[in-house]
Amino acid sequence: MPSQNLFGRYGIQRFDAAPKGLQTDGQLTSMEERDAEILGRQNTTKIFLRELKYRDSNDEIEYMLGIMYEEMSNSFPDPFENHLPKLPPSPPCSYEIRDIHSKGKGVVALRDIAMGEIIMMERPIFFYPMMTFAELQERIFNDLVAKMQPRTRERFLSLSNVKDSTVPHLLGIQATNSMEMPLKEGAERYGGVFLDISRINHSCGPNTTRQWNRYLFVTIVQASRNIRAGEEITTWYEPVNKSHADRRFDLERKYKFKCTCGYCTNTSTTSDYDRAYYTNEDAIVDLEYRYLSITLAGLKVQNNSRQKAAQDFLQHLIRGLVILTKEGIEGIFAQVYYVYLMQVYGLRGDKTKLREWGFKAILMYIGSPYWSGEKIEQWIDWMRDPEKNFPYWAMLLDRVKRQ
Ligand SMILES: [Zn+2]
Repeated sequence: MPSQNLFGRYGIQRFDAAPKGLQTDGQLTSMEERDAEILGRQNTTKIFLRELKYRDSNDEIEYMLGIMYEEMSNSFPDPFENHLPKLPPSPPCSYEIRDIHSKGKGVVALRDIAMGEIIMMERPIFFYPMMTFAELQERIFNDLVAKMQPRTRERFLSLSNVKDSTVPHLLGIQATNSMEMPLKEGAERYGGVFLDISRINHSCGPNTTRQWNRYLFVTIVQASRNIRAGEEITTWYEPVNKSHADRRFDLERKYKFKCTCGYCTNTSTTSDYDRAYYTNEDAIVDLEYRYLSITLAGLKVQNNSRQKAAQDFLQHLIRGLVILTKEGIEGIFAQVYYVYLMQVYGLRGDKTKLREWGFKAILMYIGSPYWSGEKIEQWIDWMRDPEKNFPYWAMLLDRVKRQ
């Protein structure tokens, strides 16, 4: 596929399809189909425990435990027809887990890490449906921990537990460390525990993105800006577009700490408004309308009003990006702005800038919830030959020349 090569040329790995080669070269490990064990029932639905086996990137056998509703168990895991691919080679190690003053353990960069670098790519040690009856949960987790490989169990038991002592200890560890991992579109919500990713502490302006990839069955942590050697690597536990007070309240309630990140201790008066405004769905939809109002206006619209709309749009995008960056949340929300900047520069016939923003858009797409693989193929086509492939190429420029 040509686009694969193009990705290679840009030094970017693709993660939006199961790597096909794995199925033919014998590297696939078939899922251990031990009689799935029925753990219990929720209403009329059976809940199963399945043990999944795969090879890690060093070719060693690894185990994962999955608690699944019957329906998920029958079709699991969707893209692999009962197989999990060997784990792809892990990115070169760039971090270590160590004690952080007043925060327990945390993850620290061992070297400078560039924006876009993948820091972790990790499979969960177990996953489970997030909505199970409380009385079932405790028994399920006891069974689960009993089935873990000894070295995995040891690491699981060393994870932190912030829940109070009325919560059974294993459930406390699970609740403290679990992260959402959507197994299938439209299915119930599933969560998982990841040994290394769980160690990353929260910041309201995190320096990484974190995205579950169901094709590779991994969560990918990617640097959303340049990180210096010695700097702490951070993620988010609560949505960072909530207000300052709500974030702090929820972090304290759920994770028992007062957030002391720079965005909480040095909050600007416009921070709450800015975070809500530039990340809200309507504001994202508005970007598309603004773009369409320039490109689809047709000849009826005065050229100078088109020029003005484009100029306003450009300023709006830059302002959004500056604010997202100031708030430290550009990794999670700015990618859509990169995409429109690429397009506006296409309208202006600026090849260099189209490619610059397009490159950022592609670089950060792993962590973005907005785009699919097809879109990315299209951007690559635009970047390769904008004159030929970008619709409305230099539309604004042509008009200026004609005046
Ligand atoms: Zn904070």
